[in-house]
Amino acid sequence: MQIRGAHVLVCGAGGFIGGHLVNTLLEQGAASVRAVDIKPFDEWYQCNPAADSRILDLQLRDSCFQAAKGIDAVFQLAADMGGMGFIENNKALCMLSVLTNTHMLIAARESGVKRFFYSSSACVYNGDKQKDENVIPLKEEDAYPALPEDGYGWEKLFSERMCRHFHEDYGMETRIARFHNVYGPLGTWTGGREKAPAAICRKVLEARHSGNHEIEIWGDGHQTRSFMYIDDCTKGVVDIFHSDILEPINLGSSELVTINQLVDIAEDIAGVKLLRTYNLKAPKGVNGRNSDNTLIRKYLGWEPSIRLRDGMEKTMAWIQQQMIEQQMLAGVASK
Ligand code: NAD
Repeated sequence: MQIRGAHVLVCGAGGFIGGHLVNTLLEQGAASVRAVDIKPFDEWYQCNPAADSRILDLQLRDSCFQAAKGIDAVFQLAADMGGMGFIENNKALCMLSVLTNTHMLIAARESGVKRFFYSSSACVYNGDKQKDENVIPLKEEDAYPALPEDGYGWEKLFSERMCRHFHEDYGMETRIARFHNVYGPLGTWTGGREKAPAAICRKVLEARHSGNHEIEIWGDGHQTRSFMYIDDCTKGVVDIFHSDILEPINLGSSELVTINQLVDIAEDIAGVKLLRTYNLKAPKGVNGRNSDNTLIRKYLGWEPSIRLRDGMEKTMAWIQQQMIEQQMLAGVASK
């Protein structure tokens, strides 16, 4: 099926990726976009006036049926989530997203939804394959035997399988992308749920502004990751949605960096050099993680390729603007 002409629902539309996705789906010619989130509107990162925006708690079965009514395609992104600091300390909360995924799948099926997109995560991958900083990029098959991130990753893996069985048993068309670290403007950058790129941008800007040229890094800085800019993410979601790919597929950048290199990039953009201290007790996640993009290249002839340096420039500019607006950086001119 095509997005053009379809009535689509975005769950988690008040969040980072969901907010951007609403805009993309409208640009793609969706007949209508229903945007749903549990948060009050003033907490949504963006609220496109062309969308039918609603506040609903999608952990509740009835809300899922309200959201799915008259809908052709669902994009299920609603989840209680955050960076490592959040998911390591909120395992039960993360697992409760299973209510949203379960009720949304049931409501979609019973409401005649034609296709269901589910946003899974690289946190489903077996931890034993991510012990080394010099990581071998993770292939889709590396999720099994199962040893995912405790809490958040187990819930994602379970929900992936629920999508699979809704397809096998009920014929519902499901598509699953495993996102690898997505970053960009209009996302979480403070408050405890933010991920490394946003947290590092904020810390570097704070240090530059305060004149206290120090930065605390979680872990030893040698852990490796890849980071996907939001525009690559929304393009990938649309392409995977339109594809015939029935198995979960990686959607991530394969530009691997250490956290120290990520800090180098942020310092370079901000024009400062900071003294680094390493907090070895802070949550740091696995030692190494990268996306193997063989499958996405094979099926879609494309892979996320926006350079980290380019995406970080845009992200830092947006975070700086937020800090100025919230008077965290009063008087600092834009670079
Ligand atoms: P986000 O936290 O910005 O957005 C999620 C949204 O879901 C939030 O606005 C939240 O209020 C909403 N939500 C939570 N519970 C809800 C409920 N009961 N009813 C309705 N809405 C509810 O996160 P994001 O970064 O935009 O992530 C979107 C999806 O992608 C999530 O499923 C996440 O697990 C997945 N993902 C994200 C990343 C990443 O790097 N950002 C990586 C892997 C997977």
